[in-house]
Amino acid sequence: MHKNKPFSIPQREEATLARGLEGPALLSMAKQRPDENKISLGIDLGGTKIIAALVDRQGRILARDYRETMPADGQAAVIAGMIDAACTVMEAGGVNASQVAAVGVAAPGPIDAESGVVTAPPNLPGWKDVPLRRLMEEDLSIPTWLENDANAAALGEHRFGAGKGTRHMIYVTASTGIGGGLILDGQLYRGATGAAGEIGHITLLPKGPYCGCGNRGCLEALASGKAIAREARERVRHGVPTLIGELAEGDLDQISAKLVAQAAAQGDVQAREIIEEAMSYLGLGLASLVNLFNPELIVIGGGLTKMDELLFDPVRRIIARTAFRSSAEAVEVVPAQLGDDVGVLGAAAVAMGAKKQVWNVQERRE
Ligand SMILES: [Zn+2]
Repeated sequence: MHKNKPFSIPQREEATLARGLEGPALLSMAKQRPDENKISLGIDLGGTKIIAALVDRQGRILARDYRETMPADGQAAVIAGMIDAACTVMEAGGVNASQVAAVGVAAPGPIDAESGVVTAPPNLPGWKDVPLRRLMEEDLSIPTWLENDANAAALGEHRFGAGKGTRHMIYVTASTGIGGGLILDGQLYRGATGAAGEIGHITLLPKGPYCGCGNRGCLEALASGKAIAREARERVRHGVPTLIGELAEGDLDQISAKLVAQAAAQGDVQAREIIEEAMSYLGLGLASLVNLFNPELIVIGGGLTKMDELLFDPVRRIIARTAFRSSAEAVEVVPAQLGDDVGVLGAAAVAMGAKKQVWNVQERRE
């Protein structure tokens, strides 16, 4: 088995083509160079919403569909919704299945990208080892590729967003949780089992707060939206004078990272301190990545980036102070550019990247 190959494809490409194609037809199609001008279809499958879009090679969205996921209706209903969304955007864009190069699906992890199986995502209850790629292909008759949402977002920002033209880029999503994806040498780095890029679970404080993963002091437990809210609740509970308590009207459950950011924007010292500390941890985690991978760019997306300099200042400062000098000087830290479209454009980038890989493999074999 090849290591570190983002898409190991020839077997499944043949399998895909074999369905409905026999003998000479299969051969000629396998040798045909993929049409570079074809469009891709991206589907962003989230716990609350499904977004589908027809996307051209420049990342322009030609047609779009949005609907609620409704996971309680069961996986068959969700998949039917995805397929219906795909058909809707093809119809809106005036194309048929043969004009779409590939479908890319960004799904909540964990997934097995190589086999196209959604393993057991926490925000799609009841899903276990669902062969999503096969089910989609059977229905749509378009080659389909699956990627976890964080990796897809990294591919999206790399291909269409802030990371365009870079070779070594780290994508970080700083939101309720912290996730990420690594683009190394121009390709998504998946690791031995496809689990690479779990930036949120770098241990920074072994005796620190508990993390959702069961460990303590993970970056996510110290710097995520959840961590900011937790720290703010602690201070309010202990009677520390802060605007946060007033904004929450004394209700601890009302305290969120957004509310802390609001208090900070109004000059609240405690709120600013909480955010400064959390973002310093983010900087510390990223400084380790800077030392490990020597990236030229770190792209940060997710809800917390709405805090602008409250996030970026401490992160840049800590990287400059902590990482090795040559690496720290080589890296730029910038906000993501794709906004709410990152999921669906990431999914389209998965489809486009996969197609390219297929061709490269094919070329090498000939
Ligand atoms: Zn963790």
